[in-house]
Formats: sequence, C-alpha cells, structure tokens
Amino acid sequence: MIDLRSDTVTKPTPAMREAMATAEVGDDVLGEDPTVNHLQHSMASLLGKEAALFMPSGTMANQVAIKTHIQPGDEIIIDQESHIFYYECAATAVISGGQFRCLPGERGILSAEAIAKVIRPPDVHQPPSRLICLENTHNRGGGSIYSMENLTAIAKLASDHKLRVHLDGARLFNAALAAGTTVEKLASKADSVFIALSKGLGAPAGSVLCGSAEFIEMALRFRKMLGGGMRQVGVLAAAGLHGLDHHVDQLLEDHQNARRLADGLGQMTGIQIDPEEVVTNIVLFDVTNTGMDADTLVERLVHKGVLMIPFGPTTVRAVTHLDISTADIDEALEIISHFLKSSAR
Ligand SMILES: *Cc1c(COP(=O)(O)O)cnc(C)c1O
Repeated sequence: MIDLRSDTVTKPTPAMREAMATAEVGDDVLGEDPTVNHLQHSMASLLGKEAALFMPSGTMANQVAIKTHIQPGDEIIIDQESHIFYYECAATAVISGGQFRCLPGERGILSAEAIAKVIRPPDVHQPPSRLICLENTHNRGGGSIYSMENLTAIAKLASDHKLRVHLDGARLFNAALAAGTTVEKLASKADSVFIALSKGLGAPAGSVLCGSAEFIEMALRFRKMLGGGMRQVGVLAAAGLHGLDHHVDQLLEDHQNARRLADGLGQMTGIQIDPEEVVTNIVLFDVTNTGMDADTLVERLVHKGVLMIPFGPTTVRAVTHLDISTADIDEALEIISHFLKSSAR
C-alpha cells in the first residue's frame, strides 16, 4: 500500500523508538519530566519565544491558545477553510465562547487588506475583534504558504488595532523550507504558534505551543482544565526531539516528491492540477473530467494499492511524508495512470 492519505500515518522509525525507550521521564503535571522540559526549551528557542508547552494534539494546542487569547463574545478573524474553523468540532464556540468572522482566503491565505475590512470599530452593538488566526502551511489550501511580506503587513495591522495573532503552524517547518526562511522569522509575526510533532517530523503524537511566558502560564492552566495534563510523557517528547534532530531536512524531499506527483498527475487525461501551486507536501487535484467523483475514484484506487482522501465532491488530496519514497511516487503514478486508462475504455 502506498499511503498518501496524510503525513500523520508515519510510524516511528527504529531510531525514534529507541529514543523513546531510553527517554528520561518524570511527572510532567508536576513539571518534573526532564525530556518534556528539554523539548519545550528547544522549541521555544527555535521559535524565538519565551516559553513552550507540550500538547497531546494540535487541536488542543489551537483551542488552548484561543481560550488564552479571548473572552466569551470576542470575535476571531479567520480563513473559512482553516483547520480551526473546519475540523475542530466547533470547539471554539463550546470552550471559549468565541465567534468566527470567516474570510475567503486565496487558497487559504489571508491578506492584510481583507482583514482590515472586517476589523470592528468600537461600538456597543458589535463584538470586539480580538484575534486573528492564520494557518501556515494551509491544509485545505493545498499546502500553500504565507510570504514574509504578507505576514509582516498582517502583524502590523494587528498591532495597530491591538489584536492578537495566533499561528496554526502544524506544518511550519514545511512553510519555512518552502519560503526559504526560518520558523523563527515566521513565528516572530505571531503572539502564539504551535507546531505538530506528529506530521512531517514523524512522531507518534504531540504538538508544541509557544508564546510569551505569561501566555504559556495561562495556557498551562487551560491544558489542565481540558484534561491535557499527562504524566511520564517524556516518551512522547523524546520522539518529538528525535524528529526535530533528524527529520526536518527530509521535509524538502517530501516537497520534491509532492511536486513529482503533481507533475505526473498533470500529464494524465481527466485530472486537473496546476503543479506550480504545489510548493510543500500537499497535493490537491480535481477529478471532474475522469467522469468519477472523488469518493469513487479514491475508493477504486484503494483496491489498486494507492490510498488518498476525498477532499470535496471532485477534489482529492495526496500528502507526501517520511514513509514515502520517490520510488513510491513513481509507482503510485503508474498505478493511477493505468487505472485511468482502463476506466476510460
Ligand atoms: C493536523 C492539523 C491540526 C490538528 O492537529 P491534530 O494533532 O490532528 O489535532 C491543526 N491544524 C492543521 C493545519 C493541521 O493540519
């Protein structure tokens, strides 16, 4: 099986398992897990933030960050295809009492101009605009990225209006590599940021939320409130540290493989894709002209040994990751091409 459903499907490598097995641990709710503390320090310094907090998942990292930034009744400006709005079970409504002001991004990417238009004036009838949430890379946008210029303009706008910025950086290393910059520079434009350990970095679980010392102190309380306080969690932190040490550079290979997949798909009759738009590890393509909808095409390819996911009625998503080689991509292309030719007959 060539599993292109997500970069979350990776299994820990033998070396990662070794690092987990030999990790020094302690009770992290008491702040005594040395491996968690090491990971938190490393991540904070890598992102140029004062402090960091290990999180069981990216969803909890986003929701704890939002709860820390806003009060019930506050408004959050966000892209309408963002993970926070689309895939987190309305957690912000339930947990924080926030209201979203959704904007149509350009492949998920918001501009300072578009945000400026929806910032509320002080008015007793209106909810106060409090927070801007950005996603970099953007999942439903097909792994699209923010330019440094755009982030700088948004940060300036936020500071002018006393808004906070939270960055969903589940794939921030992918974004930095694609933009030719560092995660620190990207994170410098946000008050809080999280990075996933369980995606491109190949760890089995975990995310890290970063921000000011004051922000992280409050976030720690909300993590406990939501049941995210774990005990000898150094076994997971060790996997994250191993990923940071060994799997960051390999993300470039994921990007090259994604582009190779996009180029190949672009040659096939019935598939619509602009390979130029594939700048990280996520490939979105349209299957309308194959005569099949996304569900049907994906379902039939499962039986041929290629796993992808339907991402809309006629949109399919494929994601490259640590467990996918260039040879796997070539094999997947072969299988898809053969399948399309045989089903066109
Ligand atoms: C995967 C993902 C998350 C959530 O991470 P989980 O660990 O699955 O909860 C948040 N944002 C983006 C952009 C993601 O791709």
